[in-house]
Amino acid sequence: MIGWLRSKFYRAAARTTAERLPDELWQTTLTSYPFLAALTPNQKTRLRDLASGFLREKEFHGADGLLVTDAMALAVAAQACLPLVFLAPAGTARAALGWYDDFVGIVLHPGEVLARREVTDEDGVVHHYREALSGEMMDGGPVMLSWSDVADAGASAVHGYNVVIHEFAHKIDLRDGEIDGCPPLPPGFLGSSSHAQARKIWMSRLHQEFSSFSDRVIAAQRFEGLVEEPWMDPYAAESPSEFFAVAVEAYFVNPARLMSDSPGLHNLVDAFFRPQRPAT
Ligand SMILES: [Zn+2]
Repeated sequence: MIGWLRSKFYRAAARTTAERLPDELWQTTLTSYPFLAALTPNQKTRLRDLASGFLREKEFHGADGLLVTDAMALAVAAQACLPLVFLAPAGTARAALGWYDDFVGIVLHPGEVLARREVTDEDGVVHHYREALSGEMMDGGPVMLSWSDVADAGASAVHGYNVVIHEFAHKIDLRDGEIDGCPPLPPGFLGSSSHAQARKIWMSRLHQEFSSFSDRVIAAQRFEGLVEEPWMDPYAAESPSEFFAVAVEAYFVNPARLMSDSPGLHNLVDAFFRPQRPAT
């Protein structure tokens, strides 16, 4: 078990209900993040329903004396629910929020905590780090986020970086019980005739992209200044599951750049979140 859970879980939960979600606060949230402002009116309505439900179901805790305001909780909720706008378009908000029903607590730290890396301990708890700890999630447990990273998500979208979407992409990946870069795929995904075949297609394409990306990262490190670095965070080369999470964050905050940098990866992620589009 990790230290922050034991020592910093002390601030009373901050809850906001859908009924109390003020329009001005919602509009401010949308304009703070360009990838939210770019949604269509229908998608914004859907996101508001999802974020309202998310705030009803989750409890926010501030660590190190951080006071979690409604605006902060809503900023997290809106970004966390963005993938759900596309994942379950026909269902109710409550049904879509089932993707995240394995936990209740969200812990916000004022800033980053530790150097980024990933280890899985003997209890099966997966810890994620960047240079400093910006986010972390546990299977069936809470999500930890650095508020400074969350607040900066509008500016960092140019780099494809979004800590909230990253951690919730892991939650989506984990819905089938395994954090391996393959989320639960819908029936008939990419023309498949069975779940096993869908998974095989996904894994084949993901690993192809992962291998290509890792080669580019290694080449850029080996021939520093002579070989162009890939656009996505090189942390994605850590493992297929991190590659999936980084790809999902890039897809939602800067899809055009992901498309130009890694079209095959963009189209794979797109096939999952927008299966109604023609497969490419
Ligand atoms: Zn991660």
